[in-house]
Amino acid sequence: MSTIETKSVHTATMEERIIRPKVMPVYQSSAFSFSSLEELEGYYEGNGTYLYTRTANPNTDALGQTVAVLEGAPRGVAASSGMSAILAGILAVVRSGDHVLAAEDVYGGTFHLLKEELERLGITVHFADFAQLSNVEQILIDYPEVKLIVSESITNPFLRIEDIDVLAQLKKHYGVKVMIDNTFATPYTFTPYGQGADLVVHSATKYLGGHSDVTSGVLVGDEALIDEATKRVVNLGMNLSPFEAWLTIRGIKTLALRMEKQTANAQAIADFLQDKARVWYPGKGAIVSFELPESADVSKFFSSLGWIKIVPTLAGVETTVSYPFGTSHRALSAEEKQKIGVNERIVRLSAGIEGIEDILEQLALAFD
Ligand SMILES: *Cc1c(COP(=O)(O)O)cnc(C)c1O
Repeated sequence: MSTIETKSVHTATMEERIIRPKVMPVYQSSAFSFSSLEELEGYYEGNGTYLYTRTANPNTDALGQTVAVLEGAPRGVAASSGMSAILAGILAVVRSGDHVLAAEDVYGGTFHLLKEELERLGITVHFADFAQLSNVEQILIDYPEVKLIVSESITNPFLRIEDIDVLAQLKKHYGVKVMIDNTFATPYTFTPYGQGADLVVHSATKYLGGHSDVTSGVLVGDEALIDEATKRVVNLGMNLSPFEAWLTIRGIKTLALRMEKQTANAQAIADFLQDKARVWYPGKGAIVSFELPESADVSKFFSSLGWIKIVPTLAGVETTVSYPFGTSHRALSAEEKQKIGVNERIVRLSAGIEGIEDILEQLALAFD
């Protein structure tokens, strides 16, 4: 190697040493190299080496495995967003001609995915009010084509807690699979896999990542289903980038600490709001929703929150508020909004890790 051209390309990759970093480094490489055809053959025999980042990467594998461990499931796969993890989970179970049964209060993005994209693929979707589980059972009786039930452990914005035990019974009786979105609860609060869900999915953009600096998703569950889901992630190019996986793993290290503090703050905020507004807080998780009194100037309330910012997401370390009427539920018709109770006075608050005195002081100012 004598020319500057060759030296500049190859010098940094030549030395192979054993380095033991304290934390897993970012394998920011789109592909992996082999020193012989035997070694290449070894990859296909499953010796644990890597070939190409879209098909597998150490950082994304580590993220899938970490969330699987936290959720008590055998395997996991990371994806480029919560939505792609949800899509991979659905397509692991259903194909054209099959039906899906979903809770009518699922996350807006999930609603659009089911309604707009799956219907185009020839998959029929039924929505039901899961607060009445007889509705769910009736659809399973009427439509034996249903292969998958989709719901969330804690829903948005009214924080209904799903009865996963009952869904697990229905699942056995009617031979369907159950996928639960555990984004709002996190495995700190609920582990739906242990209660009988076949697949558990996360928008890791929220509490798992926890710092509002990454968009990622993870799906965990039975080995065979995660194998199928992984094929969808690879074939449809829904893989997560190594750096985003690395950031998500870094966030997960403090998940329990954050959830402990954020849940305690949420409880204190719910108590504080009790005599000021109608409050929804199920005693779990770190989201509090409330309805301002009819006399309130809603727009003034939002602009009087100082350092509590208006942000159409949740789960960061900062306390934030969102406006479901104008964001997450904006696309619903007036009747649909009224049916689920999302009006102009509903506020969804995501409790952060700040000192509770400061949060309550700021809220008190806005109420004044
Ligand atoms: C945010 C969110 C999603 C979608 O996740 P992205 O990472 O934005 O794709 C899905 N489900 C729930 C409950 C969410 O809050």
